[in-house]
Amino acid sequence: MTDLDELAAASLAAVEESTDEKSLEALRVRLLGRKGELTGHLKNLGALPAEQRPAAGQQINLIKNRLQNAIESRRQTLESNALDARLQQERIDVSLPGRRRAGGGLHPVTITMDRITQIFRAAGYDVAEGPEIEDEYYNFEALNIPENHPARAMHDTFYVEPGTVLRTHTSPVQVHVMERDDPPFRMICPGRVYRCDSDLTHTAMFHQVEGLLVDREVSMADMKGAIVSFLRAFFEEAVEVRFRPSYFPFTEPSAEVDMSCVRCGGTAKAKACRICKSTGWLEVMGCGMVHPRVLEMSGVDPVEYSGFAFGLGVDRLAMLRYQVGDLRMFFENDVRFLRQFN
Ligand SMILES: [Zn+2]
Repeated sequence: MTDLDELAAASLAAVEESTDEKSLEALRVRLLGRKGELTGHLKNLGALPAEQRPAAGQQINLIKNRLQNAIESRRQTLESNALDARLQQERIDVSLPGRRRAGGGLHPVTITMDRITQIFRAAGYDVAEGPEIEDEYYNFEALNIPENHPARAMHDTFYVEPGTVLRTHTSPVQVHVMERDDPPFRMICPGRVYRCDSDLTHTAMFHQVEGLLVDREVSMADMKGAIVSFLRAFFEEAVEVRFRPSYFPFTEPSAEVDMSCVRCGGTAKAKACRICKSTGWLEVMGCGMVHPRVLEMSGVDPVEYSGFAFGLGVDRLAMLRYQVGDLRMFFENDVRFLRQFN
């Protein structure tokens, strides 16, 4: 009987000390299971003298009940502790600031293209687009660059197959529009163009916007006005603009357009301006009066109509506006660079 009392006391203490439901269950099996210690005592009752059996049996059952109650109450305590711990862990502090979702942004070249388009739209120009894989005729012949013309060497052309090229400029779009519709024309053609050329300031793919205005009595003064207004609107300052004689096969006369440096203000006082190389001027576009032959080939009467055309590099204008020194940064897709334009 003293064995039983000791077993009871030790077992109750063990129940109270158990720290999780799994070890509590193991303890229950060890004490009360089919091969448990207390069950063993019950089985041994038969060995006792008959008169002692009822009292012993009663005592064992009493201990068994106490143990069962103790285990059940311990289990409830452990369960509720576990729940409390979980709730504590999963607690949400609703006063903490939320996690921001990183918003995407437009590419600087796209932003620049949109800006150029917007300025010309406001001035009444239509926007025309055309194929990037172009018939050699539209890329060259129709723009007064016949085969073996030296100007073809100026365009390092990607040939897709004989007679078909990746367009080297967006001017072919203007030819398509002139063939299809009747004058007057007032349009810009933005898009990707390709040349077999790559270094610090050239990439094999780049972006151009070319413009064309054809109407009765269009003069070079109109062209100058259009270009100066555009550059001042684009850079949001009263930049100085100058026109230098140049040569393009599709315009006559032709000119290169320079504007005062966006960095040093064209003063050239800044001795080491890396943007304008201390000349105070930046080359920004080419332009000219549309060659009568170009009009004629597209079915526009050059006696009745005249016009001007211009072409500008979008990537170059983006470099100047954002003062980015290396053209290749626009095409490397480094998120740290691109994020600055969001
Ligand atoms: Zn400068």
